[in-house]
Amino acid sequence: MTDLPGVDLALNPEDVPFFDALDRGEIAVPWCVHCDDHVWPPRTRCVACYREVEEWRTLPGTGEIYSFSVVHRGDGVFAKRPPYVFALVSLDGGPTIMANVVADDLAAVAVGRRVRLAGPVVVESGRGGARFVLD
Ligand SMILES: [Zn+2]
Repeated sequence: MTDLPGVDLALNPEDVPFFDALDRGEIAVPWCVHCDDHVWPPRTRCVACYREVEEWRTLPGTGEIYSFSVVHRGDGVFAKRPPYVFALVSLDGGPTIMANVVADDLAAVAVGRRVRLAGPVVVESGRGGARFVLD
């Protein structure tokens, strides 16, 4: 098993649409219509032009592993978990985000491997981040 352990994330209000999209099985990011680019991490204003972010765009939910770590030892709720993959995933048409990659064979996880969204990390309470599987 390679799912991340359950942890509660304290959400900022500007993060909520991202997690709402994850619950629907989608990836959505704030989009500056003036710069025609994503604003990541989510903010109410574009970091390039400082105008208000007016829309969110749904991305395909696919991407590739930019970098990753296989975590073998953790603390707290992570202490008794089996190894899991913590990755940076470069989204098609969007930013690079932190995510969990689930794979039956951890040796198959590699930089550049294609991944697709599997939904949110399952947590006991609260909300989890994005969880991907190998494509
Ligand atoms: Zn902008």
